[in-house]
Amino acid sequence: MKKIEMVDLKSQYQKIQSQVNDSVLNTINSASFINGPQVKSFQKNLENYLDVKHVIPCANGTDALQIALMALNLRPGDEVITPDFTYASTIEVILLLGLTPVLVDIDIESFNIDISGIKNAITSKTKAIIPVHLFGQVALMSEIRNIAKENNLFIVEDNAQSLGANYTFKNGSKKKAGTIGHIGTTSFFPSKNLGAYGDGGAIFTEDDDLAHTIRGIVNHGMYIRYYHDLVGVNSRLDSIQASILDIKLNYLDDYNKSRNDAAFKYNERFRDHSDIITPIRIGEFDSHVFHQYTLRILRGDSHRDELVKYLSKSNIPCGIYYPVPLHLQKAYKSKRYNQSNFKVTNQVVKEVISLPMHTELTDDQIDYISECVKKFLD
Ligand SMILES: *Cc1c(COP(=O)(O)O)cnc(C)c1O
Repeated sequence: MKKIEMVDLKSQYQKIQSQVNDSVLNTINSASFINGPQVKSFQKNLENYLDVKHVIPCANGTDALQIALMALNLRPGDEVITPDFTYASTIEVILLLGLTPVLVDIDIESFNIDISGIKNAITSKTKAIIPVHLFGQVALMSEIRNIAKENNLFIVEDNAQSLGANYTFKNGSKKKAGTIGHIGTTSFFPSKNLGAYGDGGAIFTEDDDLAHTIRGIVNHGMYIRYYHDLVGVNSRLDSIQASILDIKLNYLDDYNKSRNDAAFKYNERFRDHSDIITPIRIGEFDSHVFHQYTLRILRGDSHRDELVKYLSKSNIPCGIYYPVPLHLQKAYKSKRYNQSNFKVTNQVVKEVISLPMHTELTDDQIDYISECVKKFLD
């Protein structure tokens, strides 16, 4: 059996090696390292793939969130609603911009932001909601859109973990995750579903005015060189990364299908186990692209932590996404947070464990990993 990796980027690369090598060499030979034609090409291809009017590439997924919020022209003290159980980027950029984060508990089945929690969190100062499509599953966007419409709020979707997922509306129509709210953001961090060989990110919108503002912000607020109309940042996707992403985009649907197949096989092997809750799909089959395959281990905290040690001894890497809810992180502590509002996140941080999930998992690896997990619990 091949050595088990949490994410096997090497095997994935080997399958597209000659294509990637040619493309990278061509880019180097062209010497157009910044804003070269490779960036434009990837931008257009991603716009087509997502069926969205504007894609604006940038340097990483955290920048994408910051730039999205900057484009909304919010004022210090404005409140932005976002889930308590996610990576730090959302709350980080909210705080950096002098805005007030309002953290909301999650739904225990999907790990995504709780809809009634959003409703309860809205005040006269609320200006935006940032749902995160956690682990690859799209949040309940119809409900979130209705709430946003009723309360005149912006929606910025953090789509860093769910590129390629579809959301099906009640009338049967579909939209790609990240293109449903006013702005969507994503990350091309190497381990993401569409990963570069370095950092990268992008921002999506249907809105021409927002797109114009965002294009200015990513480039120091310049539309004409050395004339600064806005206070911006420097956030670019470089040409080499774009040339790699342009190739990998052709495989994104296959990659997401491999992840879904692996998740299906894991689910089968853990089915009906009394101490394991396997991930479920809230929507249609294509609403989840399994950036992570995350189990909940019942039977109390120490069992999850003991399982991590046991797997590690069995040469199986795993991850705890995430061990601490945002409201308990030292950097984001605030008197505004009331423990009774975070019952689910406080519980799941002790239960979750993410197993190896990537596009190159083999059946014998999935068998071995699931046997080890079950052996530990039996
Ligand atoms: C990876 C990730 C980000 C940040 O992306 P970077 O490119 O690493 O800055 C933001 N949000 C979520 C949910 C992520 O998983």
